Amino acid sequence: MSEDAGTRTFIHEIIDADLVSGKFQGRVHTRFPPEPNGYLHLGHAKSICLNFGLAKKYGGKCNLRFDDTNPTKEDVEYVDSIQEDVRWLGFEWDGLYYASDYFETLYDYAVRLIKLGLAYVDTATTDEIRAARGTLNQAGTPTPDRDRPIEQSLDLFQRMRKGEFPDGACVLRAKIDLAHPNMNMRDPLLYRIRHAHHHRTGDKWCLYPLYDFTHGYSDSIEGITHSICTLEFENHRPLYDWLIDKLEIYHPQQIEFARLNLTYTMMSKRRLLELVDGGAVRGWDDPRMPTIAGVRRRGYPPAAIRHFCETIGVTRFNGLTDLVVLENAVRSELNKTAPRVMAVLNPLKVVIENYPDDLVEKLECINNPEDPAMGSRTVPFSKVLYIEQDDFKEDPPKQFFRLAPGREVRLRWGYFIRCESVVKDPSTGEIVELRCTYDPATRGGDAPDGRKVKATIHWVSANHAIDAEVRLYDHLFRIENVAEIPEDEDWKDYLNPTSCVVVQHAKLEPSLAKAEVGERCQFERLGYFVVDQDTVGDSGSGARRLVFNRTVTLKDTWAKIEKKGK
Ligand code: ATP
Ligand code: MG
Repeated sequence: MSEDAGTRTFIHEIIDADLVSGKFQGRVHTRFPPEPNGYLHLGHAKSICLNFGLAKKYGGKCNLRFDDTNPTKEDVEYVDSIQEDVRWLGFEWDGLYYASDYFETLYDYAVRLIKLGLAYVDTATTDEIRAARGTLNQAGTPTPDRDRPIEQSLDLFQRMRKGEFPDGACVLRAKIDLAHPNMNMRDPLLYRIRHAHHHRTGDKWCLYPLYDFTHGYSDSIEGITHSICTLEFENHRPLYDWLIDKLEIYHPQQIEFARLNLTYTMMSKRRLLELVDGGAVRGWDDPRMPTIAGVRRRGYPPAAIRHFCETIGVTRFNGLTDLVVLENAVRSELNKTAPRVMAVLNPLKVVIENYPDDLVEKLECINNPEDPAMGSRTVPFSKVLYIEQDDFKEDPPKQFFRLAPGREVRLRWGYFIRCESVVKDPSTGEIVELRCTYDPATRGGDAPDGRKVKATIHWVSANHAIDAEVRLYDHLFRIENVAEIPEDEDWKDYLNPTSCVVVQHAKLEPSLAKAEVGERCQFERLGYFVVDQDTVGDSGSGARRLVFNRTVTLKDTWAKIEKKGK
């Protein structure tokens, strides 16, 4: 499926109908409206792909709007990271806006509501207001201020703006219906006092509008046609519509869709911030984080994320998407684009007894069997090699086809070797070296006499290998559905203690010596990897310490067989 072909969703149906009816004069104008109170996560990627994707598909526009009405939780660091992340995902906004740019207009809108008798200043406390709201089965009761004369509310509202009252002294509420079956319509709060410094407006305001008030009016001001948000806002839609209708201003259409939830992780800026602040991860861009910054550092290509969002589609049913779907999108993208190299994570020394002591051959290796245009490279081969400890068993079980005493295997792009004997550490009994022979006639990987081997293993030449640190990542949580963690338990207790395993001394083929930070490759048979920013020294320097992240594993059939057998 091509990226642009796109899957049709119920939102396309709505837009198509609007185009036919001429509801928005043939315009499509969406927006992505993050609150800059954290880094974006994969859930936001779904919203970004949807909003920017619709604009692209219909030849319309998409704004990036910062919903920055909560000064105490917001920061320019987040504003910057959000822009970087949207661009990295491959999108460019038409307009860049801040809800805080509308503070003056929003204030005027509030004054208009007051003048229409549709909003009032309430001096009741938050607790009193909450208590007077009633319950689902019981209507709310008016607070004493509900029938405050318009003039008084106007006066108080102006004085709230001037800073005459402390935080919490009073709020502005819509005057709707305290018996409304939808709790959001029971005189919701519109403005609250916050003597706080705002990252853009500084100390100009001490009065800040609430989300529902700000959001719909911002959509209206920008001429948004389809205001797409997640399902939990469905029962806010009556308020969205009410606020706009009462002022008789331009009216966008709010449409809700199901948020993305993924197995073994969580999508909540607030909780992700707790992980960062609590030191459970190394930062917002820790490769285990479901943030855009995290998956970028992990090596996920943006095209894979876009493809994933395309695959899962858009529905109105909340569900849990298997992380494997995302990982498969990453694998399929990297399979096409990542060059293959050889790296040994847990080295076992192999000495080829019948190979000349000083000979070094340069073996031709294909960079990507999936893409001949990626060409080939040479990799040095010599008498002493490293292979993976897992690729040898002294006493091989039935389905183990790799190297064992007396057995022959193929070295990738190289020769057949046979294990003749093992050398053990006399004190520990641990195998420290394999003594092997090679068959010079098998260079390139085939025996002229037609004999077969059952396995091909990767290797590096010991004298030519470069050292690297390799970080192997696993699920952030050890529970599939994080939403199932009981309320009375600490969700952090469900973090996976082995979500990052560090291999200090991996051995890599020398072609990787100059790899740049962010470069992706496949370590043959081990997975896809990317050069991490913790790499020390640049690609020209001699004292370089390469650090790799494992982006995603390949499918390991042996691991599965071994698991089943247990
Ligand atoms: P969080 O709870 O993580 O802070 P949020 O919804 O409060 O998420 P916003 O910054 O307000 O975050 O969201 C910006 C946009 O991204 C909104 O339109 C929101 O609906 C959408 N969005 C947020 N989380 C998800 C998700 N998991 N799946 C799809 N869209 C999401
Ligand atoms: Mg939020």
